[in-house]
Amino acid sequence: MAPGVEQIEDISGVQEAHVERLNGAGYRSYEDLRYVSADELADVEGISLALAERIKAETGGGEYTCGRCGEPTNESPSESDYAYCEGCLEKFRRTERDGVTVEPSGQAYAVKYRGERLGPCSQTKALAYAYYLSGWKSIPGVFKYRGSRSRWLLDEYLDTHPSIKSDVEDLQRLSATHKRVEQVWE
Ligand SMILES: [Zn+2]
Repeated sequence: MAPGVEQIEDISGVQEAHVERLNGAGYRSYEDLRYVSADELADVEGISLALAERIKAETGGGEYTCGRCGEPTNESPSESDYAYCEGCLEKFRRTERDGVTVEPSGQAYAVKYRGERLGPCSQTKALAYAYYLSGWKSIPGVFKYRGSRSRWLLDEYLDTHPSIKSDVEDLQRLSATHKRVEQVWE
């Protein structure tokens, strides 16, 4: 947000008549303008595409809300029921490249790291393997949840799902889990 700009009428190029049109179309606050695309704004009578683009350049954001950080984004939900902002998508990509990934495999899950796979196994087991591996190798993890095809950083998923986390921690402490992981990634 540009410093000091919090009102629609403060956006450069926006006149009183534009404010009335925008209000009439349901855009009543600066915040409302963050969750809309320039194309949509240009559909409002009296708002040219050039002005719509100028508004978006100032307000930033987009028509979707990032499923991870809550920031507005123009990235449409593609592989997932959720949209993710560019920053979070990049974080997922980097984590998937450098760390461990838990992803759906058939009706179950598989654990993937450095070209090796472990699974298929249950969700809890896959998370426990990944959790152990991430601690052992000091790497981050990504979890791709089958249901909504949402994506998570492994630690954030476990922190927001405490009952799953405690099941995963129980399994992760077992020497059978350590052995299975070490067989694949020794
Ligand atoms: Zn985000």
